[in-house]
Amino acid sequence: MVQKIKNRLKKKIFIKTFGCQMNEYDSNRILDITKKINYLPTLKKTEADCYIINTCHIREKATEKVFHDIGRVKKDYKDKKKPILIITGCVAQAEGDLILKKERYVDAVIGPQSYQNINKVIKDIENKNVQREITNFEVIKKFDELKFIKNNNSKVSSFLTIQEGCDKFCKFCVVPYTRGPEHSRDFKEILSEANELISNGSSEITLLGQNVNAFKNNNKRLSDIIYALEEKKEIKRIRYTTSHPKDMTKDLIEAHKDCKKLMPLLHLPIQSGSDKVLKDMNRKHDIKKYLDIIDILREKNPKIKFASDFIIAYPGETNDDFNKTCNLMKKIKFINSYSYIFSPRPGTPANNIKEVDFEIAKKRLTKFQKIADEIKLEYKKKLVNQTVITLFENKVINESNKYFGRDEYQNPVIVYSKKNLVGLEKKVIIRKFSQHTIYGDIIENDNYIAA
Ligand code: SF4
Repeated sequence: MVQKIKNRLKKKIFIKTFGCQMNEYDSNRILDITKKINYLPTLKKTEADCYIINTCHIREKATEKVFHDIGRVKKDYKDKKKPILIITGCVAQAEGDLILKKERYVDAVIGPQSYQNINKVIKDIENKNVQREITNFEVIKKFDELKFIKNNNSKVSSFLTIQEGCDKFCKFCVVPYTRGPEHSRDFKEILSEANELISNGSSEITLLGQNVNAFKNNNKRLSDIIYALEEKKEIKRIRYTTSHPKDMTKDLIEAHKDCKKLMPLLHLPIQSGSDKVLKDMNRKHDIKKYLDIIDILREKNPKIKFASDFIIAYPGETNDDFNKTCNLMKKIKFINSYSYIFSPRPGTPANNIKEVDFEIAKKRLTKFQKIADEIKLEYKKKLVNQTVITLFENKVINESNKYFGRDEYQNPVIVYSKKNLVGLEKKVIIRKFSQHTIYGDIIENDNYIAA
């Protein structure tokens, strides 16, 4: 009762998050930080005292979409008290000036490396009603301050950022300009945050970074974090994303053999199947290097499967280059692939290069996605009547006795159960599948115990 009254006195904060898992991690950390100044998270977007749009610059027409989102907030609050409106994330970093100039309704823009300042910004706005822009690259300071704020995320499966930024400068990508240069967090701090997540009930940890496998802190590499997490009995599963082929070092490849909790799905972006296009993109790896990595990983862990990203119709891509990409898809049989037509991002070197004719690009994307879908369908068909090990994350909303989890390859799995399965890892026999989900039954009297 007392707690309920206290909660009623607190202010409410709502965050709309776009983009990658790192933005999701950042949004959760913003909620952890703002608790210190009495802001309580709400899922209702129309009852916020502070409304945050955590933006992603990878989205096509990202800036236009942010202005559109701001318009929606204005509409939602037309007859209500205006919330403090803050734009965070990569669009705030890249277009902060423009947003503040064009939209007086926005109170502040804060870049992804400065959100540790958010409480001060909110207090300033509450007291002085001034517009603020904080877009410095303060990544070291950010993690120095964040280490004193407990990570309250209590999901079964949690993200943990270990590295940020990128020095690779692929010609199409905004990340080096919005997240800044590569920075790895302190090894001990990462393990201490992992312990917080464990004490909150997490049993799967996904290590995050724009170039997660470029992690380097003193002599520690990504593989050292994986081995350290493998030792923790409460952890059932470890994943990491997103990797660059250039940084698939021997020690990391070896971890795929040694660490039973390291899941056998690797998301390894390749972008194109043509060496010429990879060179044009400044990807710093070629097809041979990529295929060698795949071969050696398969040798170390025969269960491993792969996911990847593809840019179709990058400027200068010929039919021959495109066919090489299709052939690569057929050769590796990625079980998940994310493919898009190239679209220029302001401020990147590829922004002003002559684009492939849009009609040709569309046809290529359709053809590529058809190949990818067929491969995925074949893979899913083979799952029927197979047993998969599933970690259950939550009950399905509005569905009694249905539980949602993921198998080792991150396929969404739904089962019926009268017992609460949240947090448990169970063997499931697959019965059928739809486009996005597989359905199965728990194997009864299952004595399976996680490795
Ligand atoms: S390696 Fe990844 S994050 Fe870095 S520039 Fe290339 S695509 Fe962007």
